Amino acid sequence: MNSPQAGPNSRRAFDRACRLMPGGVNSPARAFGAVGGSPLFIERAEGPYLFDIDGRRYLDYIVSWGPMILGHAHPEVIAAITEAAARGTSFGAPTERESELAERIVAAVPSIDKVRLVNSGTEATMSAIRVARGFTGRDKIIKFAGNYHGHVDALLVSAGSAAATLGVPDSPGVTAGAGGDTIVLPFNDAAALAATFEKFPGQIAAIILEPVVGNMGCVPPVPGFLEAARELTAADGAVLIFDEVMTGFRLAYGGAQERFGITPDMTTLGKVVGGGMPLGAYGGREEIMNCVLPAGKVFQAGTLSGNPVAVAAGNATLRLLEQDPPYAELERLGKRLADGLAEAASAAGLPHQVQQIGSMLTLFFNPHPVHDWGGASKSDSGRFGRFFWGMIERGIYLPCSQYEALFFSRTHTEAMIDETIAAAKEVCAAL
Ligand SMILES: *Cc1c(COP(=O)(O)O)cnc(C)c1O
Repeated sequence: MNSPQAGPNSRRAFDRACRLMPGGVNSPARAFGAVGGSPLFIERAEGPYLFDIDGRRYLDYIVSWGPMILGHAHPEVIAAITEAAARGTSFGAPTERESELAERIVAAVPSIDKVRLVNSGTEATMSAIRVARGFTGRDKIIKFAGNYHGHVDALLVSAGSAAATLGVPDSPGVTAGAGGDTIVLPFNDAAALAATFEKFPGQIAAIILEPVVGNMGCVPPVPGFLEAARELTAADGAVLIFDEVMTGFRLAYGGAQERFGITPDMTTLGKVVGGGMPLGAYGGREEIMNCVLPAGKVFQAGTLSGNPVAVAAGNATLRLLEQDPPYAELERLGKRLADGLAEAASAAGLPHQVQQIGSMLTLFFNPHPVHDWGGASKSDSGRFGRFFWGMIERGIYLPCSQYEALFFSRTHTEAMIDETIAAAKEVCAAL
C-alpha cells in the first residue's frame, strides 16, 4: 500500500536527527509518533503557510502549537525582534520594555495585579505552584486528568479510574514523592472536586486547570464547572490557578477568564504572550505575588528571564492584538470550520464530535461528546492518523495527534477554511 508520507529530504533529515537527538526531535509531539510515519522538516513559514524542505507548502493548523496567532513572520513582529537584537540580546539587568510587557499583561488579564516573566509555560506552572504552596503553607495540589501543564514533576501524573486517587507518576524519573501531593480528578466533575475539598479541608494549596482544555483535544468546561472551582477554592482558602498558556490572548485578549467571566487567583501564560519567542509568565493577586523573591521568600529566578528579544516579540504581538482584536473573526471562522468538518464526517458516515471554541478545535472520531480524558481516550486514533495523512497529502497540516487541538491565525481566510473543508470531505469519503 502506498500510504502518504514525508518527502525524501524530510526523511533523510529525520534519519540524521535520530542519530543525534532522542527520537530525532527536541519535543516529543513533533515526532509524528501518534500518526505513524516521520515528521516534515520545515524550511520557513509565512502567514498561514509552512514550507518544508521538500519544497511543499502547507496550510498550517498548528501555528507552533498556539503562539503564532498573527500568522508566521508578521512584518511588525519581525521588525521588533530585529531592532531589539541589534541593541544586544541579553543584559541580565532590568529594562523598561519588561515593564511595558508587564503593563500590557496586567491590563489584559483580569486576575493579574503583578506578574513575573519566565522562559516557558513549564516554568510558569512550576513557579505558580511553588508560590501557591508558599502563600498557603499547604502541600497538596489538585490537577485534572488530560490537562497538560508542561513537564513539571509534580504535574506529570494522571488519573486512575477512582474519583480521587493520589497521583502516580506518568514518567520514569518522576519520584513518587514529587507526585505524591498531587490529587488527580476527572475534568468537568464538580462533584468529585467538592468531595475532595471535604476530604482534605484546609490542606489543598491550589487547583491548577486549563479553563478550556487543549491538551486532550479541545474540551471546553461544562456549565458550572469553573464556577464550582472558584467557589470551592474561595471557601477553603486554596489558590485557583488558571493555566492559560494555551488560551491566554487566544480565546479573548484577556483569555478564557475574560470569556467566561471567572477570575482565578493566579494565571500562567506562554505561547501567544511571547509572539513565537521563548517567553512565559505567571501572575496573580498582589498579596500572592508579593511572596516571590526578592519581595517575599519564595525563590524563583532566571538568567534569561525577561530577555529583550523575547520581550520585543511579546510587546509587538500584544500591541497588534489590542489595536485590532481578531477574536470575533476567529470565532466566526472557527464555527465555519467546525460546521464544515462535521458535515464532511457525517456525509461519510463517520461517528464524530467537533468541539470548537474560537480558534481552537478538535475533530474527535468518537460517537460521544468529550468532556473528560475518559471520554477523549475512547476516540479512534487510528482513523485520525489516516485522516491526518490524507490532509497532509492535500496540503493541510493538522496537529499530529487526535489529542491535540488545532489552532489557526488571523491570516487564515474564509477561502482557506473552505479549502480545508473541501479537503476533509475528500479524505473522510476515502476513510
Ligand atoms: C504548552 C502548554 C504548557 C507548557 O508550555 P511550554 O512552553 O511548552 O513549557 C503548559 N500548559 C499548557 C496549558 C500548555 O498548552
